[in-house]
Amino acid sequence: MSKKSFNPFEMAQAQFDKIAGLLNMDEASRELLRCPLREYHFSIPIKMDDGSSKVFRGFRVQHNDARGPGKGGIRFHPMETIDTVRALSMWMTWKTAVVDIPLGGSKGGVVCDPHNLSPRELEQIARGWVRQLAHNVGPLSDVPAPDVMTSPQIMLWMLDEYEIIHRAKYPGFITGKPVGMGGSLGRVEATGFGLIFTVREALKELGIKPEDTIASVEGFGNVAQYAIRLFNEIGGTVTAVSCWDQEDNTAYSFRKKDGIVIDQLLSVTDRFGGINKNKARDLGYEVLPGDEWIEQDVDILIPAALENEITAENVGKISPRVKIIAEGANGPTSPEADEVIKNRGIFIIPDLLANAGGVTCSYFEQVQNSMNYYWQKDEVLGRLDIKMTNAFIAVSELAKKRKLYMRDAAFVIAINRVAQACKDRGWI
Ligand code: NAD
Repeated sequence: MSKKSFNPFEMAQAQFDKIAGLLNMDEASRELLRCPLREYHFSIPIKMDDGSSKVFRGFRVQHNDARGPGKGGIRFHPMETIDTVRALSMWMTWKTAVVDIPLGGSKGGVVCDPHNLSPRELEQIARGWVRQLAHNVGPLSDVPAPDVMTSPQIMLWMLDEYEIIHRAKYPGFITGKPVGMGGSLGRVEATGFGLIFTVREALKELGIKPEDTIASVEGFGNVAQYAIRLFNEIGGTVTAVSCWDQEDNTAYSFRKKDGIVIDQLLSVTDRFGGINKNKARDLGYEVLPGDEWIEQDVDILIPAALENEITAENVGKISPRVKIIAEGANGPTSPEADEVIKNRGIFIIPDLLANAGGVTCSYFEQVQNSMNYYWQKDEVLGRLDIKMTNAFIAVSELAKKRKLYMRDAAFVIAINRVAQACKDRGWI
């Protein structure tokens, strides 16, 4: 699948079909699970700051809610497509199932570029999205959250609109809210930290000390920044990161051979995870082409930017030294590249497991909203560690027992749980 023709939904369905075959799943279950239960497509008309009107396309896809209310973020992205949202909603179903939280899978999006929108315009889009969907989402049916280029502030505008429409307080309608306004401590760290909890367990299994390892990371946004911070705390070194340069419309990698210094690099990074290349150069970082993050001589690769970044075209560039690939992003590896990685015996921590820390903490946020009582950060991150570690162990034990690739083992656990829930409810 080349980058141009890449369709994430086709990829998600191909992944599902393969596992359904492995599980000898009945036809009806296959038909139910390979497509979303419901989807909403709508227009959001906005008055722009200059007085003109503009219409944005919005989506919500509810893939499956047999195990509990749908859960999944809302992405604001200029290249957003319905098939991306469908794929992401399906991956959410598997993700909530693999970490065994009582939620299903959904996803939403708006085709827009927040870089070119004022805060007021963004607020109008956020409120418009909720106005279109207020009766089809909610704390007991489908719970949105932030994703690429959506923020706690956007979540709060959305919550406010929802509460205005429903004339009561529903803090559990949406997660990723600001702390102090129903948000959970630890949410900003959760995905990146969760990823490193699984890397720590994988290193244990491989008998490698974290302090003997070097990593290269694609992306320098929320997931990457906290992953790097915790990876450093457990003793690892990160020598390269890449990110998107808005001005040049291209990606760059930033390398420091003795290890990037996270706080230093953050001081020259914008709120979208874009690093200022001139300032980084002044700080002693080499500025390289964007795709060079993948060819670094490291032990661990962490793709934490977008989907379809490790492909048939660049998988051959992965250094023989790489032992672990921990997928921070959703769907970063194409099926062709995955086959190569599998044959090379690289230990993959698949996205549905590796980046499930975010949704797990979102679940904790909802639990706290329901109790109207809030945990300390250590309590949140401690519970997160337990959930992620247990999920990792379950997947790696199944992988060993049935001689499965880690990705397949994670899918087997997740898909089995969801198919069983559909059966238990009498849907199939
Ligand atoms: P973000 O918007 O905070 O950061 C994205 C980063 O990727 C930015 O640094 C951006 O510059 C970089 N980037 C974009 N295009 C790039 C390219 N072509 N090459 C190199 N870098 C590029 O997003 P995030 O929240 O960190 O999410 C990253 C990924 O992780 C997404 O796939 C998202 O779906 C997934 N994810 C996020 C969460 C979460 O809680 N934030 C949870 C699960 C999965």
